[in-house]
Amino acid sequence: KAGELGSGGFLFYRDEMDQRARERLRLETELREALAGNQFELHYQPKVSLRSGRIVGAEALIRWRHPERGMVSPGVFIPLAEETGLIFDIGNWVMNEACRQIRAWDDAGLSMPPIAINVSARQFDRSLPGRISDVLDQHRVEPAQIMLEITESLLVRGTDGVIAIMNELVAMGLALALDDFGTGYSSLAYLKKFPISTLKIDRSFVVGLPYEENDCAIARAIVTMAQQLRQEIVAEGVETPEQMAFLRDLGCDQLQGYLFSQAVCADEFARMQREAKRLMVSR
Ligand code: C2E
Ligand code: MG
Ligand code: MG
Ligand code: MG
Repeated sequence: KAGELGSGGFLFYRDEMDQRARERLRLETELREALAGNQFELHYQPKVSLRSGRIVGAEALIRWRHPERGMVSPGVFIPLAEETGLIFDIGNWVMNEACRQIRAWDDAGLSMPPIAINVSARQFDRSLPGRISDVLDQHRVEPAQIMLEITESLLVRGTDGVIAIMNELVAMGLALALDDFGTGYSSLAYLKKFPISTLKIDRSFVVGLPYEENDCAIARAIVTMAQQLRQEIVAEGVETPEQMAFLRDLGCDQLQGYLFSQAVCADEFARMQREAKRLMVSR
C-alpha cells in the first residue's frame, strides 16, 4: 500500500485526510437521502418590532432531523451543500416548503407575518426569479408574504448580472434583506447600488453590546448608515435585555434572538401568533 512507504508523520497526515474526505462523502450521500426521505424541516424564528413589541415577521431556518445523529445544524451541512451544488435542490425544497406552509396557515384562517427565506449566493442565478414565481403561483402565495435574505458575499460578486436579478425580484414584489451585515467585504459605496430594503446586523456585533466599545461603535455606525439609506434594520442574536435596550436607543427597527424565542416548529409558531402574544418589550 502507498501509505506504508511514507514516514510516520506522512501516514498520520494521510489517514486524517482520508478520514475527513470519507466523512464528507458520507455526509453528501446522506444529504441526498435526506432530500429523498423527507428528513428536513423548516423552523421559524420570530422577528419582534421594537416599536410595538409585536411579532412582525419570522425567519425560516432549515433543520435536518437525521435518523441516527439527531438534529444536524445547518451551519454544518449548508456549506457542504453549497460546495457540492446540492444547495440548488435544498433551496428549492426550502422555497416550496415555506410557501406550502404559508398556504396551509392561510387556509386555516391564520393571519401570519411575512416569512423570510435564506438564499445562498450559489442559488442566485438568472433562473431564480422564474423559479420563485412558479412556486408562489403553485401555492397561491403573494410575493409580500415572503422576503429573501441574501448574504453579503453576493454583493462582492457585485456584477450587473446580480443587480439585474435583484431588480427582477423587487419588480415581482419581493423585499430583499442583507444578512450577516458587517461580516463580508462589501464597501459602503456598493450598498446603495443594490435594491435592498433591510439590513440585518450580524450577531457577532450584537454579542458585545453594550459593554464592548468596538461593538457599540460598529452597531451605531451600521444603524446610522441604514437610516440614511432608508433601510429597515434588524439585529440578530439578541439574548439580553441590555442588548435590547442599547439597540432600541440606537433606533433599530426589529430584533431577533433567544431573548424572545429560538426558531420553533410551524405549529408552535402558529400558536404564538394565534395567542397574539404581545412580547414584552419594555420601553
Ligand atoms: P442566519 O441566516 O444568519 O440565521 C441566524 C442564525 O442564528 C440561526 O442559526 C439562528 O438559530 C441563530 N440565532 C438566532 N438568534 C440567536 C441568538 O440569540 N443566539 C445565538 N447564539 N444564535 C441565534 P441556524 O438556524 O443554525 O442557521 C445557521 C445559518 O445556516 C443561517 O444563518 C443561514 O446562513 C444558514 N441557513 C439556515 N437555514 C437556511 C436555508 O433554508 N437556506 C440557506 N441557504 N441557508 C440556511
Ligand atoms: Mg438569515
Ligand atoms: Mg443572519
Ligand atoms: Mg448570521
